[in-house]
Amino acid sequence: MPELRKDPIIGRWVIIATERAGRPDQFSSQSYENPTEKPCPFCQGQESHTPPEIYAVRPKNTPANTPDWELRVVSSIAPFLKIEGELERRGKGLYDLMNGVGAHEIIIEANQHIANMADLSEEQVSRVITCYIDRMVDLEKDQRFKYALVFKNYGWAAGGGRVRHSRSQLIATPVNPKRVKEELVGARHYYDYHERCIFCDLIKQELESKDRLVLDIDGFIAVAPFASRFPFEVWILPKKHSCDFVSLDTESHFNLGRVMKKVLSKIKKGLNDPPYNYVIHTAPFRRAKLGYWKSIDYDYHWHIEIMPRLTRMAGFEWGTGFYICPLPPENAAKFLREVS
Ligand SMILES: [Zn+2]
Ligand SMILES: [Zn+2]
Ligand SMILES: [Zn+2]
Repeated sequence: MPELRKDPIIGRWVIIATERAGRPDQFSSQSYENPTEKPCPFCQGQESHTPPEIYAVRPKNTPANTPDWELRVVSSIAPFLKIEGELERRGKGLYDLMNGVGAHEIIIEANQHIANMADLSEEQVSRVITCYIDRMVDLEKDQRFKYALVFKNYGWAAGGGRVRHSRSQLIATPVNPKRVKEELVGARHYYDYHERCIFCDLIKQELESKDRLVLDIDGFIAVAPFASRFPFEVWILPKKHSCDFVSLDTESHFNLGRVMKKVLSKIKKGLNDPPYNYVIHTAPFRRAKLGYWKSIDYDYHWHIEIMPRLTRMAGFEWGTGFYICPLPPENAAKFLREVS
């Protein structure tokens, strides 16, 4: 019997196809499109081919936009939102609009031409974590922004573009994203009833049952969520409660880097280097607003959602907001646990 499963945080239903479920190895990435490579603007020595750097890890005596860096952040050449201007919120009858103001930054994660974050060193990945935090702290100072979403598109099918150089993106938005709001509302609702964080409860339960556990190391767990939307969806959560990714202590940057590398390597090795996306869900910038943020320190818990792109969304998903996941997360977790 297929199972309808409800995500306990936001109440989203998914259909887990248990009967027609394939074997985990059926989902491995079939053909990796290998687009022709132009000279890569993200490699060391190509600094003049990107917008000027906003942030960099480089020796103190080297000028900006020259070689010898370890990591660089530049503005996007084709930003979804523009950094200049005011919001000018307005209404036209029943329609609300504002100017497309925001920040769109590209985090170039290494100076070598390496495509997959899984192939960076633990040190390089932890440097990326530190960079995310530094950029979020800086963007929070801009009062126009309410949220900063860090995400990665790896591979063509995940929106990763043609240049195969490991990078992630950060977009600061003047409104809170709907997905994040749904989580905030769901988590607060649970807290109102139970006076506990739903994510902490989830971690406790997953550690007890171990059915969906992928990793439990260095203060973090990786799990295949009970109501997975996609085969091999994995969430990484800190075991220590915190609503805010930027409050992560320095030692944990390294631990998280190691956990990220381990999980991404399992996905790469086990599934034949599939395209994937990940997002970091953390607390919004807490601008003063009456009645808001009273319990967020206790009720919300930051996390990373990793989504390999092995299936496509189709009409039913678009029309209903449910997802159909053709592989039970228990099978996915077992498979990933066993990839060494
Ligand atoms: Zn490159
Ligand atoms: Zn928690
Ligand atoms: Zn989330």
